[in-house]
Amino acid sequence: MATDVLDVIRTKRDGGALSDEQVEFFIQGYTAGTIADEQAAALCMAILLRDMAPAELATWTQAMIDSGERLDLSSVGRPTVDKHSTGGVGDKVSLPLAPLVAACGAAVPQLSGRGLGHTGGTLDKLEAIPGWRATLGLDEVVAQLRDVGAVICAASDALCPADRKLYALRDVTATVEAIPLIASSIMSKKIAEGTAALVLDVKVGSGAFLPELDRARRLAETMVGLGHAHGVRTVALVTDMDAPLGRAAGNGLEVAEAVEVLRGGGPADLVDVTLALAREMVALAGLDGPDADPAAVLADGRALAVWEAMIRAQGGDPDAPLPVAGTTHPVRAPAAGYLRRLDARAVGVAVWRLGAGRSRKEDPVSPSAGAICLRKPGDRVDAGDPVLELHLDDPDRLGPALAALEGAVEVGPEPPDPRPLIVERIA
Ligand code: URA
Repeated sequence: MATDVLDVIRTKRDGGALSDEQVEFFIQGYTAGTIADEQAAALCMAILLRDMAPAELATWTQAMIDSGERLDLSSVGRPTVDKHSTGGVGDKVSLPLAPLVAACGAAVPQLSGRGLGHTGGTLDKLEAIPGWRATLGLDEVVAQLRDVGAVICAASDALCPADRKLYALRDVTATVEAIPLIASSIMSKKIAEGTAALVLDVKVGSGAFLPELDRARRLAETMVGLGHAHGVRTVALVTDMDAPLGRAAGNGLEVAEAVEVLRGGGPADLVDVTLALAREMVALAGLDGPDADPAAVLADGRALAVWEAMIRAQGGDPDAPLPVAGTTHPVRAPAAGYLRRLDARAVGVAVWRLGAGRSRKEDPVSPSAGAICLRKPGDRVDAGDPVLELHLDDPDRLGPALAALEGAVEVGPEPPDPRPLIVERIA
């Protein structure tokens, strides 16, 4: 039966499931430019309102994978396992995690993106390191995985071109939030990257992409289901993102904190999430024994050695000083008591406004702008104690950043109820 785009849109508009033929027709046509943006926008909105069935979504994801090339990592000689985070404020976990898991014996192919909006991008963080380069050829990726065990680099344009077009369209049509579209966007790229196993860190809380637990859980379940449907061993941890993770937010500041973790220090919440994800990755890669115990590998410097090799392999100098901002500005506690809340989203927006993030994908980012959380929820404070230290080079950015932080620091007479860091595990 011949398919036409109006039938595809009508089927979803009326709550039906798209056939395999309809899905393939749409993804191929939109990627090739024979289906117009307004038609694709109508379908995305219909999907947001009507949802997708699991089999329909698996076909959709396969069609997105088939729109570009798929990497073959079979020659790297180690089990491959990757991690994806849905993004949060101060979420620099990939930086210590990739070398840690590589030091346990796996190959970690992290093909990443740049930050857009209030959550930072892993490539932007690493670019704060003098000389480090994000763009690698496929041969270089495979060689580095074989020799070093970990690569964090930019995903090639040839990977999932359908996603690049659809994501840009969703961004301007208020359809980013559709769970099947988020899940297929993330999973198509990870599956095309060629990893055999994947651990997902799905953030929940004010700084997360989906702040509510029921929606974060649904996204995690949907992505785990897609991983299994495509033969990728997949586990998700739902983790808290109501306050920034660790103390640093902003590119160079986050690299410095990641190195602290690799040297055996660093904030407890950041270390705990890194180790929890590392244990899942090592288990999915089928590694065990004392040489594959992430806590031991972190403590004895093996993970740090892989980090240094990973940075050097991409032209960076792991010993070079990181850029430092010209000025710092404290944000003080409004009263004495317990810090009840340090709103992650507000801190993320403030850091972005200080210059650490971008509004359009071609904007430059500052390597030195950011914030240090001097206090975390649960800490005792006196009125006027500095809670945040803002780092900036451009004084005109301070006012907008402070405006974003209005009401973000809450102090009260009682400590807040403790929030679990690892909220759920979905396998
Ligand atoms: N990240 C992605 O790669 N895709 C989405 O749709 C949302 C977040």
